Amino acid sequence: MKRIVILGAGESGVGTATLAKKQNFEVFVSDFGTIHDRYKSVLDEAEIQWEEKGHTEELVLNADVVVKSPGIPDHAPIVKRIIAKGIKVISEIEFAYHFNSELSIAITGSNGKTTTTMLTYKLLKEGGLDVGLAGNIGDSYAGQVANHPDKSYVLELSSFQLDGIEEFRPNIAVLTNLSPDHLDRYNYKYSNYIDSKFRITMNQTAEDYFIYDYDDKEIQQWLKNHSIKAKALPFSLYSKLDEGAYVEEENIIVTMDKETIVLPIEELGVEGLHNVKNAMAATTIAHLKKIRKEKIRESLSDFQGVEHRLEKVLKVDNVQYINDSKATNINATFFALESMKTPAVWIVGGVDKGNDYNELMALVREKVKSIVCLGVDNTKIRESYENVVDSFVEVQSMKEAVRVAKSLAESGDTVLLSPACASFDLFKNYEDRGHQFKEEVHNL
Ligand code: ADP
Repeated sequence: MKRIVILGAGESGVGTATLAKKQNFEVFVSDFGTIHDRYKSVLDEAEIQWEEKGHTEELVLNADVVVKSPGIPDHAPIVKRIIAKGIKVISEIEFAYHFNSELSIAITGSNGKTTTTMLTYKLLKEGGLDVGLAGNIGDSYAGQVANHPDKSYVLELSSFQLDGIEEFRPNIAVLTNLSPDHLDRYNYKYSNYIDSKFRITMNQTAEDYFIYDYDDKEIQQWLKNHSIKAKALPFSLYSKLDEGAYVEEENIIVTMDKETIVLPIEELGVEGLHNVKNAMAATTIAHLKKIRKEKIRESLSDFQGVEHRLEKVLKVDNVQYINDSKATNINATFFALESMKTPAVWIVGGVDKGNDYNELMALVREKVKSIVCLGVDNTKIRESYENVVDSFVEVQSMKEAVRVAKSLAESGDTVLLSPACASFDLFKNYEDRGHQFKEEVHNL
C-alpha cells in the first residue's frame, strides 16, 4: 500500500484525504495550525489519522508522496526537508486528476477567475451538461472526484495549484489575463509567476483548447517565445479575429469551424468591459461544448455576477452603492472605475501590494470626484491623488468610510468600494471587508 501524507487540513487537504482513503492509500494528514472541527469529524469518520499544531517529522517524511496545500510555500522548513529526501510533492489537483475519468475545463489568470468559472459552469449546466464546479470554489475537486469520478469539472485554478501539477491535462484551459500578483512566492520575478500560469497548458495535446486574452501584452509576448500544442482560441475587445471571440458593433461574436454566434452586449447581466471579456471566454467554452445559442443567450443575461465583484448593493437617496471588495489589485480596480457611468465617490486602500497608482490616474481624473481612503497606511494613495480630486478623506473603519462617502455623494452619484489593496490591515479578508461594507450601507 502506498503511503500519502497530506500537509494542510483545509478544504483541499481533507478532500484529498477522503479520495486517497477511498483509493486504498495509507493516509496521514498533518497540519501546522489547528484543524477545523468540521474537518476533524470528516477525518475521524473515514478513520484517517491526523495531527495538528505541528508536523511530526518521522510521520511526515515516511511518505511515498506528499500532497501540499496551495497555501504552504516551498520554502516552509517541512517542505524543504520533504524535497531534500526526494519525496514527490504534488497538489490536490494533480492527485485528483489521476482518478477523474473525464478531462476537465481549467480556468486561471490574475483576475476574473471566479467570475469566468461561475459563468462557464452556469452556461454548461443550464445548457444541459452534467458538470461539476471545483478548484478554488466551494467543495474541493478531490473530495468531489471521490464521489463522482466520471464527471467533467469546471475548475478555478490559482498559480499555486498549478505549481503542484505534473500530468494534469485539461481539455479546455483558459488564461483570463496577467498582472503581477503573489510575487513573494515567485522570488519577486514576474516572469516566474507568468511561467506558473502557463503551466495550465503544458500537458495539453492537439485535441485540447487554450483560450486566452488576445489583448494582453504579457500573454502575447509569452506565446511568441513558446509553443503550445493545444488549439489556441483567443478573445479580443479590439481586434477582429478569424477564430475565437471578438466584439463588433456592441455584439460579442464567437466564431469557429465556420460557425458564428452573435450575442448583444447590452443583454449581459453584468457590467464593465472586463465582464465582456469574461463572457467571451465562457461563451467560447459553451460553444465548444455545443450548447445551444438560445440557451447561452438566456444564461448570459440571467448571470448577475458574483458577490464582492462589482456587486450592486443598494440605492440610498438616489446614490448607487457598489461592493467590489475582491478588487485587491490595480488591474481589477481599473475595470471597476472604467465601468462607472456616473461621478464616483471611491473608497480605496488597505495593504499595498507594490501598486503603481499612476496606472489609474487618467480614470481617476475622468470618473472620481472624491476619495475616501480606508487603510492603516495611506501614504502612497494620498501622494498620488490628494490634489487630483475634489475631496480626499482618510478613515480607519468601514463605518466611517461609508458615512463619509454618503456625505460626499450627491443624487445620481455612485459610491464604489474597490480597494486595489489587500484587506488584512483592518479586516479578516476581502469577504469580511465586503460584508462590513454592505452592512454599513444597509444601516444608512
Ligand atoms: P479572481 O478569482 O481571479 O480573483 P474574480 O472574478 O473574483 O477574479 O474578480 C476579482 C476582481 O477582479 C473583481 O474586482 C472583479 O470585478 C475584477 N475582474 C473580474 N474579471 C476581470 C477581468 N477579466 N479583468 C480584470 N479584472 C477583472
